[in-house]
Amino acid sequence: MKGRTTIRFTGGALDGTVEEIQSKAATEELTWSKGSYFSVLDNGDIGVMNVGPKGFHQGWFGYSVEVYQKAFRTGSEIPYEYKVDRMIGRCAAITKTGKRCQHIHIAKGKYCPTHKNHTGESVPDELIV
Ligand SMILES: [Zn+2]
Repeated sequence: MKGRTTIRFTGGALDGTVEEIQSKAATEELTWSKGSYFSVLDNGDIGVMNVGPKGFHQGWFGYSVEVYQKAFRTGSEIPYEYKVDRMIGRCAAITKTGKRCQHIHIAKGKYCPTHKNHTGESVPDELIV
């Protein structure tokens, strides 16, 4: 179909999975969330939660994704090979409303692009991934 591309994952949790996606979405890397994440629970403990219909618990601070790398196309499908697991962490800034920023932080940092020069209050180090 025009504008659509079939991709096939090899390795990782998606090994053997075939998907049809928008051709423009077939970028060099695709990431796939494993469906679980780290969160501060209502009782203050830190735990692993599964993403539910309402999305993340308000205390979420990180989750891991699998990264798949686009490989050389040999047939009608574009192969994507499992490369690495990567942690995605939440921005550590505490906003003016007293709540933690909802955005994810940039690679090798602890703040999102909006808060990259943040000098105000942050969450404790143990909540930064
Ligand atoms: Zn932020």
